[in-house]
Amino acid sequence: MSQKTTFITTPIYYISGEPHIGHVYTTIAADVLRRTALTRGSAFLLTGTDEHGQKVAAAAAAAGISPQAWTDALVPRWQALTTRFGVVCDDFIRTTEERHQRVVVAVFEALKARGEVYLGTYEGWYCTNDETFWLEAKLVDGRCPNPECRREVQWISEQNWFFSLAKYRDRLLAYYRANPHWLKPQSVWNEMYAAIESGLEDLCISRSNVSWGVPLPDSRVMYVWLDALLNYISAIGYGVDPSRFEAYWPADVQLIGKDIARFHAIIWPALLWALDLPLPRLVYAHGWLTVDGQKMSKSRGNVVNPFALADRFGADAVRYFLLREAAFGSDFSYSEQKILQRYVSDLGNDLGNLVHRSLAMLAKYRDSLVPAIAPSSLVLPAQHLGERVYEAFAGLQFREGLDAVWELVSGLNRLIDERKPWALAKAGEDAALDALLYEICEGLRWIALCLEPIMPEKARAMWQQLGLAGEPTGSWAELLQWGLLPPGTRTVPGAPLFPRLLDDVPVA
Ligand SMILES: [Zn+2]
Repeated sequence: MSQKTTFITTPIYYISGEPHIGHVYTTIAADVLRRTALTRGSAFLLTGTDEHGQKVAAAAAAAGISPQAWTDALVPRWQALTTRFGVVCDDFIRTTEERHQRVVVAVFEALKARGEVYLGTYEGWYCTNDETFWLEAKLVDGRCPNPECRREVQWISEQNWFFSLAKYRDRLLAYYRANPHWLKPQSVWNEMYAAIESGLEDLCISRSNVSWGVPLPDSRVMYVWLDALLNYISAIGYGVDPSRFEAYWPADVQLIGKDIARFHAIIWPALLWALDLPLPRLVYAHGWLTVDGQKMSKSRGNVVNPFALADRFGADAVRYFLLREAAFGSDFSYSEQKILQRYVSDLGNDLGNLVHRSLAMLAKYRDSLVPAIAPSSLVLPAQHLGERVYEAFAGLQFREGLDAVWELVSGLNRLIDERKPWALAKAGEDAALDALLYEICEGLRWIALCLEPIMPEKARAMWQQLGLAGEPTGSWAELLQWGLLPPGTRTVPGAPLFPRLLDDVPVA
């Protein structure tokens, strides 16, 4: 029986700025989920760009070009970001594409036919920066209540379409209670549950005096947030290609930042129900990257440029750092000192040095050829590593999965220190030396396979240095069996995996 494709989404990125490391964080996590899923079956990763809204229109106007020209100029930067970090997207959707816009219109028509939307007057405030409607009572000192924003809001009085969100309150509460794990982490679940419990208002889903959006049949445009949410189903052919749609939906994991949880954990499920569609299996809201305790944001001027970081440390080291340093759901306190520390210690000293000295010893004592041994002489207990790493990565416990891989890295380093291949060579204990060298190389093969989801480029380099053909990818059930490294394999010691950085001073 064929397994359903694991469908993973990131938020689509609002293009009105430069990509920062926070965007990369989500996208890398999605890529790890994708690569992990591929070790058992098939996977599909969707990402893209959110290109409509008043803010984009205003930025384009200020630049003296059309909004379409403006977004066309910015999108390649976002696409380059995924490529730079080794992320493989199966689809990259832009909300300005025709394939998306026609689904937005079809969804609107379907909601209308089902009596889920009605015309009314929206009188209230709007924050253009957040593209969010705010009721008078929510404002703080007459300004946007979002603590990260606090900008002036604009009074709007428009005839608009409303989505009947309020009536879904009880159904949402019941769903949350019956599915305590559909939204993670628990803190976000609690916050959203409380928000639903305190009551929901119907949602204004169109704009009348805004032109940069998906045009609805009555000359209004779709509210940019609803437009954006629909990318998750437009990209996989909702309403256009039912068999394709059913092969992917519901999504297995929808990754979001916790600041957009309200849209994904309240509005989105209600909207899916209104369309009679099942909900995603998991919505996972990761924490914020903080610098000195403050959220990284353009307005604070403390954003880290991901391209510069990748140039300095290499994309894989950045991927590793982001997923090892903090639990994925928590806030993440970023500093360059921390990434340097991880680079020097975990990657350079532990892993890089292990690979380097292992292959150097094999070259010295066995002419770089993996020795033949009796399988019974293997001692390292790594049999269950594949299952542990898979469960951890697939469950977004990236740090725990890496801890498990590092047990093997440390185990091999310890094995070398304790069994002293140089002493075995000197004493002429050939069988013992063969067994030890084989075991170390086999351990390296396992490490390359288990690290591929996190550091695809370094895993490939390890694979090549081990003299193995192809790529360190494929079914872990088949590949992660102790003793599969073919005797006689000629290893190819190469450049250090994590070379010293020019400014790599010792870190306190
Ligand atoms: Zn705001």
